Amino acid sequence: MAGLGAARTLQAAGIATVVFEKSSGLGGRVGTHRIGEYTFDHGATIISPRGTELEHVILNDLPTDELVEILKPIYLSTDDRVTPVDPEAGKIKRFAYHHGLDTLGKLLAADLDVRLESHVESIKKDGPHYSILGESFSHVILTPPFPYTEMLLGSVGDKRGFAGAQYRKCISIMFGVAEEIERPYHALLDPNQSQPLTWLSLEHVKVPGGFRAPEGKAALVVQMSARYSRYSFERSDEVVISETWVDIKRLLKLKVDLPEVSDVMRWNYSHASNTVSYEAANQAGAKILVAGDGISGARTHQAYAVGIRAANQILEGEEL
Ligand SMILES: Cc1cc2nc3c(=O)[nH]c(=O)nc-3n(C[C@H](O)[C@H](O)[C@H](O)COP(=O)(O)OP(=O)(O)OC[C@H]3O[C@@H](n4cnc5c(N)ncnc54)[C@H](O)[C@@H]3O)c2cc1C
Repeated sequence: MAGLGAARTLQAAGIATVVFEKSSGLGGRVGTHRIGEYTFDHGATIISPRGTELEHVILNDLPTDELVEILKPIYLSTDDRVTPVDPEAGKIKRFAYHHGLDTLGKLLAADLDVRLESHVESIKKDGPHYSILGESFSHVILTPPFPYTEMLLGSVGDKRGFAGAQYRKCISIMFGVAEEIERPYHALLDPNQSQPLTWLSLEHVKVPGGFRAPEGKAALVVQMSARYSRYSFERSDEVVISETWVDIKRLLKLKVDLPEVSDVMRWNYSHASNTVSYEAANQAGAKILVAGDGISGARTHQAYAVGIRAANQILEGEEL
């Protein structure tokens, strides 16, 4: 999101911009995983941009035919007791996309020059410019999680103070279930992180209409607590799935014995739990800038906004 926010800002100002993306898809941690007839947002599960630039872009600049405003609220789950949240909190606008949140990355990147499957392992100094995978640039904006950003900066002898930034691990588990699960909420949140399950998303309730699971079936995504995720990061999929399934069955009072499909995603850097300030990471006049949720805070719209900020620093400060 930070990279796409930066690239769109530069491109809108008429600056030729290239996005290098190591994976085969767009959107980074705003990702979607498909198993047979089930669709799961296994990274970010909702976009709630709260009046920021990302909301403006989603509602006004991008096509909206796939956009879904999530109507059912989030409930709280504490010690297996499920209760509605404060009604004021329920007034926040929340969005998803019919076929997956990865639609957002695709739409944001539609007019950009993106090189997929282009893993940047180092940057080389090239006179006044910087060379990346054989191409030369006057400026660079780095947006991976900071441990990778530090490695890339190190390749040109640039050291910055990221010590304050921390990310937490998160295990996400996906279940496709052959049972109708209708509820008055689209997600359950354990605000105290006292149980292994921190967040349970009913994907087929979040996005109704058969886009996430066939009629009469359910698509669930569970995000595990920081403690459970740390402890279980290296444990096998089989163990993590079977342990969590027992909790899900009890919490939702399910009748089926087993899920139809399941899978596990381990996010090594899921959320920035501590950030550094933009100014600590980016000095005036720097040609290599740093953005991403290690600066902005761990929300999609915040990452997008800090990408725009880095692009504006280039536009305001430099002859290109
Ligand atoms: C499980 C989970 C649940 C979440 N839930 C929510 C939510 O509900 N709502 C919300 O707003 N936010 C949520 N977030 C947080 C949100 O997804 C992130 O804060 C935001 O997407 C971070 O964007 P970013 O651009 O900083 O980083 P990333 O999304 O990590 O993007 C960095 C990109 O750089 C690429 N990359 C990395 N290294 C290289 C390299 N060397 N060369 C080329 N490419 C590289 C990566 O593949 C990636 O595409 C969640 C995150 C997770 C993991």
